[in-house]
Amino acid sequence: MDDLLVTGGGMAGLSAALVALRAGLKVTLLEQAEVFSEVGAGIQLGPNAVRVLHDWGLEARLRAVAAFPEALCVRDARSGGLLGQLTLGAAIRQRYGQPYATLHRADLHQILLRQVLGSVDCRLRQRVQGFEQDEARVRLQTEDGARYQADALLGCDGLWSRVRAQLLADGPPVFSGDLAYRAMVPVADLPPDLRRNEVTVWLAPGLHAVNYPVRAGEWMNIIVVVEGEIPSDPESWDHAAQASRLRAALGAVHGDFDRLLQAVAEWRLWPLNVRPPMRGPREHARGRVALLGDAAHPTRPYLAQGAAMALEDAWTLGRLLEQPRWRVAGRLDWPGLLQALAQQRWRRNGWIQQRSRRNGLIFHASGPLRWGRDLAMGLLGERLIDLPELYRGPPRPV
Ligand SMILES: Cc1cc2nc3c(=O)[nH]c(=O)nc-3n(C[C@H](O)[C@H](O)[C@H](O)COP(=O)(O)OP(=O)(O)OC[C@H]3O[C@@H](n4cnc5c(N)ncnc54)[C@H](O)[C@@H]3O)c2cc1C
Repeated sequence: MDDLLVTGGGMAGLSAALVALRAGLKVTLLEQAEVFSEVGAGIQLGPNAVRVLHDWGLEARLRAVAAFPEALCVRDARSGGLLGQLTLGAAIRQRYGQPYATLHRADLHQILLRQVLGSVDCRLRQRVQGFEQDEARVRLQTEDGARYQADALLGCDGLWSRVRAQLLADGPPVFSGDLAYRAMVPVADLPPDLRRNEVTVWLAPGLHAVNYPVRAGEWMNIIVVVEGEIPSDPESWDHAAQASRLRAALGAVHGDFDRLLQAVAEWRLWPLNVRPPMRGPREHARGRVALLGDAAHPTRPYLAQGAAMALEDAWTLGRLLEQPRWRVAGRLDWPGLLQALAQQRWRRNGWIQQRSRRNGLIFHASGPLRWGRDLAMGLLGERLIDLPELYRGPPRPV
């Protein structure tokens, strides 16, 4: 039986383990944390990501925990004026065959984890240190000296991936200049007129914010992104200090946005670190080792597609594993298969990284660029906000 090592138990690692398990592989997943967990924040899933979950038979589980917003509204953070709108709900489901969902990250993580627990050999407290590969095997060691080996290795160990550090040796990610403040508020604590089943994007020069419902509409997730310096120790900041720093960075905002911010009991600061968009397939896979998710393509979250890319990577892997042509004398041709995965994925992932970066510039625009943006949104409306090339995905492997 072919065996596979997966490092990291986030969205990418769990999704990769899920498809490998379904393809009949023996999977060992190594996670550095003491328990599987996710940060207390929300996540948006466009129809392309929901399509992946649907294909994996997880739609009912998604429906039980997600919210399905009726619209995505772009507003001026200072005046509150509506700049543009994309109808979601039934309209987007009709257009793309799948809905637009918003949910708690822990809920998505649990959905995936339940698919692999008990069937995948999940090892916690295993921090990967390094690996080596030859024509036949990959050998890996952890910081506490444990050793593993398999036919192939999927590095799904996130932004600061150890597998990437060794495979590509291209240095650490860099701070983007943007700080994300994240919070969750019980919807019941919000004034009734703010309890909208919508994704609202607030724009102002040098900043933007996004809020949307999660937990089947019971909580409101809020992210505010401002430009600023990376604090030396973000973990040590208390809420009051964070809230007042954020307020100072925001300046005067519209009353609705202001009341939303006032409802927050605790902010969490998240400096956004990134890498340049992917430049070729060799950044995805070499030999028997591939990178999936943030390990391969960390991105600014301004297109809400980071986890979607991780899901799409795994979905494509699953589809490739179904193709008989990767079996030679009953064994998988891992270098060939991972090369095919890299070829199928790198352009789209690089494009999403690039579009996310561009979205940040547009969101934070001032002067003539801001004026042009607002005018274009007013004139083109849905056509500007909708993303057919993205939402029709993931593209089928050839
Ligand atoms: C503010 C913000 C908002 C976002 N919003 C969205 C959104 O709306 N929609 C969307 O699709 N995406 C969004 N994203 C992006 C999304 O969160 C990430 O792309 C996604 O979580 C990446 O998953 P991953 O599994 O690749 O990495 P991670 O979630 O980082 O998981 C990596 C795992 O590997 C483990 N690990 C790390 N190093 C080692 C090691 N050496 N050994 C063993 N294990 C290790 C970690 O403990 C972790 O469990 C957002 C990101 C941010 C920052």
